Amino acid sequence: MTSKEFTVEGYERIIHIEHDESGLDAFIVIHNTTLGPAIGGIRCHSYSTNTAQLDDAMRLSEGMTFKNAAAGLNHGGAKTTINALKIKDRALAYQILGQAVEELKGAYICAGDVGTTVEDLFKVKDATEYVAGITLDSSLPTALGTYTSIKALLKRDGLKTKDQTFTVQGLGKVGKHLVKMLDGKIEAYDPFVTDLEGVTYIEENNLLNGEFFVPCALGGSLNGFSLASIKSKYVCGSANNVFGSRKDIITAHDLGIKYVPDFIANCGGVVAVALDFEKKDYKSALTTGLTKRINKILDKAESDNIPVQHAAEELANNRLK
Ligand code: NAD
Repeated sequence: MTSKEFTVEGYERIIHIEHDESGLDAFIVIHNTTLGPAIGGIRCHSYSTNTAQLDDAMRLSEGMTFKNAAAGLNHGGAKTTINALKIKDRALAYQILGQAVEELKGAYICAGDVGTTVEDLFKVKDATEYVAGITLDSSLPTALGTYTSIKALLKRDGLKTKDQTFTVQGLGKVGKHLVKMLDGKIEAYDPFVTDLEGVTYIEENNLLNGEFFVPCALGGSLNGFSLASIKSKYVCGSANNVFGSRKDIITAHDLGIKYVPDFIANCGGVVAVALDFEKKDYKSALTTGLTKRINKILDKAESDNIPVQHAAEELANNRLK
């Protein structure tokens, strides 16, 4: 194994690992450890160049620093990218990566991500203890965090989930768990899932006509176009990047739409992975703990009269100072 470390301003450590026999070509990027040991997944993807692979690791590791800080974790952010095109012996490649993680002596705790399987993570574990959430299905804690966010949002207005109708976009891994947790009426649209019990199926163009919109599919559902006609008063789901652009955050604020920012409402996965490493259960963190965090954000947004998204970003960034 060859391991070359180099520096880039704004990043704590960048390590390029290559191993001829297995075909491993990986970048481990530790962005920031201000809050504690960095946590971040291993992405295995077909990259056409080393530069694209490094850029991806850098961008994603920075995102993890913010996500972990926003989730209230005492963990920094990191990411690994592996070039899938170069792998010759997959089991050996992940084992060698485990050795590289071990050499970092706990500064980086790795986990699963797109392209990495449970079997791959067990190979990493052969070489290091610094791997978390191997067998965790993150969609369940993610749904729990989203459920808590929905409840917290309604409670501030003296409302209960059982009295609401929720309009859900996307009944995939998270959406399916979430609709089981919600005790109100469920309307939903998913082009591929049309047979869930207890769900009233609606047309796609009615998604934003209900009182409470729950995006659990794609990003960008609140955009210039949809915000021009949205009837929903509440928005809270698991989807990443719900706002199409920064401008849409202001529009939603001006319209008085009530929401919990996506990176808070869907933090259940990262919280569960971090607590799995400490061998702790995630339930109280994603119920009482998360409710406190959400109320702090919503209180700040109200007292400063700023968009909720901005309040949440400010609180997360303050933790990193
Ligand atoms: P998934 O792929 O299992 O499910 C997505 C569902 O959305 C699918 O059933 C798909 O048919 C449906 N869909 C696709 N296009 C649609 C459309 N135009 N309208 C309505 N439905 C549509 O994904 P998931 O794991 O359930 O994740 C859902 C969202 O939550 C994604 O945005 C994801 O990034 C985010 N998220 C997931 C996790 C997790 O742990 N799984 C964690 C954080 C964030």
